Amino acid sequence: MDIDDTPVLDNHLHLDPVNGRNVAAAEEFASQGGTHLLVLNKPSWHLVEKATDEATFRETFDLTVEAATAASEVLDGRAWAVLGVHPALISKLVGDGYTPPEARDIMQTGLDVAAEYVADGEALAMKSGRPHYDVDDAVWAASNEVMCHGFERAADVGCAIQLHTEGGEDFEDVARWAEERGLDRTKVVKHYSGGRLSGPVKSVLSDKDELEIAVETDEPFLMETDYIDDPDRPGAVLGPKTVPRRVRWLLENGHEDAVRTAHVETPADVYGIDTEATLER
Ligand SMILES: [Zn+2]
Repeated sequence: MDIDDTPVLDNHLHLDPVNGRNVAAAEEFASQGGTHLLVLNKPSWHLVEKATDEATFRETFDLTVEAATAASEVLDGRAWAVLGVHPALISKLVGDGYTPPEARDIMQTGLDVAAEYVADGEALAMKSGRPHYDVDDAVWAASNEVMCHGFERAADVGCAIQLHTEGGEDFEDVARWAEERGLDRTKVVKHYSGGRLSGPVKSVLSDKDELEIAVETDEPFLMETDYIDDPDRPGAVLGPKTVPRRVRWLLENGHEDAVRTAHVETPADVYGIDTEATLER
């Protein structure tokens, strides 16, 4: 099997129509055999004034929906938008003088708006999480409440949710919180995951070592770059060519089954998308 025989999905990448390369990054991905993209909105403060109300969240989300539409034009498959609120927004808001509960309410409003875009068919899934750095107890508690609100809204509209969290391999508690709110753990994706994870579905950052672990572990998984499309930080993360290159490498090493898992089966189970039917070469 050759890369031209399979869909190739990057599960988490950013395109920045304001400051970044935007469609050119999607073209680079396609030039290496990439076919499908999940385009995440950048943290709101990178695109517009810091989001503190519904209107600013809409402004950020509209930019991402447009970026995904434009990316679809240059792909043999297609792109979808994934919308939500970056967990680090809480620290920005608290730094500006909001209390943690006030910051929580603002961020939950953002998630309500994201859920609306999913319900309207403009976005495929949501994104939430909690800070990956140390915060005080009040901010941690408020962040967990934001994330759990995300689970509730994802359950309401019947979509998956990607999480940005601290590192680690045991997220059983988080998966259980989702299930307590009516969202199956197979609809919860930990973005920037290593190859081993318990709880949510792992979206593995495409380093060879971590992919090897994911292949050996033989569980559902996705592949991503978390490309940030930021001209001020070139090389800060993996580039848009990485997922197709790693797919080629997996195929060369005989891991056809793992490629099918990450690019056809897991996307279908998690998001309900058909990466084969939406591919026209
Ligand atoms: Zn990201």
